[in-house]
Amino acid sequence: MSKNLAELDQKHFIHPTSSIQQQQQHGPAYIFEKGDGIYLTDTKGDTYIDAMASLWNVNIGHGRSELGEVAKEQMEKLAFSSAFSTFSHEPAILLAEKIASIAPGSLNAVFFTSGGSESNDTAFKLARHYWKLKGEPERRKIISRKKAYHGVAAASTSATGIPQFWDMAGTFMPDFVHAETPYEKSTAEAIESMRQVIEHEGPETIAAFIAEPVQGAGGVIIPPDDYFQAIRNLCDEYGILFIADEIITGFGRTGKMFGMENWNVQPDLMTFAKGVTSGYIPFGGVVVSDAIHDMLKERSTGTLFHGFTYSGHPTASAVALKNIEILEKENLPANAQKMGERLLEGFKKIRNDTQIIGDVRTIGLLGAVELVKDPAANERFPAELGVAGKAIHALYDHGVICRPVTFDNTDIICFAPPLIINEEQIDTIVEKVHDAVVAVEKTIGENAF
Ligand code: PMP
Repeated sequence: MSKNLAELDQKHFIHPTSSIQQQQQHGPAYIFEKGDGIYLTDTKGDTYIDAMASLWNVNIGHGRSELGEVAKEQMEKLAFSSAFSTFSHEPAILLAEKIASIAPGSLNAVFFTSGGSESNDTAFKLARHYWKLKGEPERRKIISRKKAYHGVAAASTSATGIPQFWDMAGTFMPDFVHAETPYEKSTAEAIESMRQVIEHEGPETIAAFIAEPVQGAGGVIIPPDDYFQAIRNLCDEYGILFIADEIITGFGRTGKMFGMENWNVQPDLMTFAKGVTSGYIPFGGVVVSDAIHDMLKERSTGTLFHGFTYSGHPTASAVALKNIEILEKENLPANAQKMGERLLEGFKKIRNDTQIIGDVRTIGLLGAVELVKDPAANERFPAELGVAGKAIHALYDHGVICRPVTFDNTDIICFAPPLIINEEQIDTIVEKVHDAVVAVEKTIGENAF
């Protein structure tokens, strides 16, 4: 390596969602240079299991040359052209058709973006536009939930239910409100909180409710089975549009092509990104129902003043089409289902070997292990102990990359490996989690109990 990459990183690279001071003191901990299947290799030559599929997104695994080939072909033919106004091109048209064919029920028309935050901002604007066209322009408010993560653009930051993201730049827009999430709450309690928020704000002022089918960054929160049908009923009762944020859960992650299919609940709008290209190229979008599309077709006269330069990017569209073809051909949603069940079995087994594992859960290949002081009473460790952080570092030492969730005094380890993972690799992750948790148990010592 001719240049000192770590030094250049410190000097010139402001990392997303990172500690700037930690970077200045220590430099980047890992500089990855190669990916293959579920593995990442860094510049020191050390190989890790990417048990987060990087940012919950590398669904078909690293190093798939098929995507590189299709990108090269498309770049050589037509790398980019506009989709604004009356311009169009084959890759985006075919991708829109494909997504309409796999999206649940009446979700049949797609607006493309470059990522998740843009998709959610777009969904909010489309929902408000719908109400405007319908003659109810006062319906502007967006309800989301505590612990939600919907991105970091202006509106999606406000919909995000983790206050640290608002505090960073004082970015909290009017017309965003948060209700309870079903984490450690029943469906009835969570729905009652939603109802109170709706009644307090005034139903005639609410445009849409947005929810991740499974809250990812909030700590892999899997709702009770009856939750989303109750949400759908509540939205219908008050005439509120329901936006499913499928940015993590879409494209096979939860064992179905889309997360909401686990409960057969139909959203009015569905946002996606990440797994649509398995992260090989930035991309995303919003799929809307026929009812919303019909309203646009009938009443949206003149220009729809919303569009990103890269909406429907031809190369990204071609990569997405190939990625979806691979997900379908290799039955990856079904593999996620099967491997997720095995992961859960493994977590349950190792819970018996330690004293600090509380709740364990998976849905497809989204999983969580909670570390607690007293599993029987679900009593948490004091935040100062930094137990989840210690566990993540122990996992790095054992060659596994996953992510901690620690706000609201939780110690949650999240898992979202690539969907191509096999049984042996699942068992390796479980074994390493066991070893890491046992090591952490030793370091926190008797006085923590
Ligand atoms: N929604 C969800 C559920 C997400 O997990 C994320 C990203 N982690 C986003 C939205 C934002 O996506 P992006 O980072 O591509 O803007």
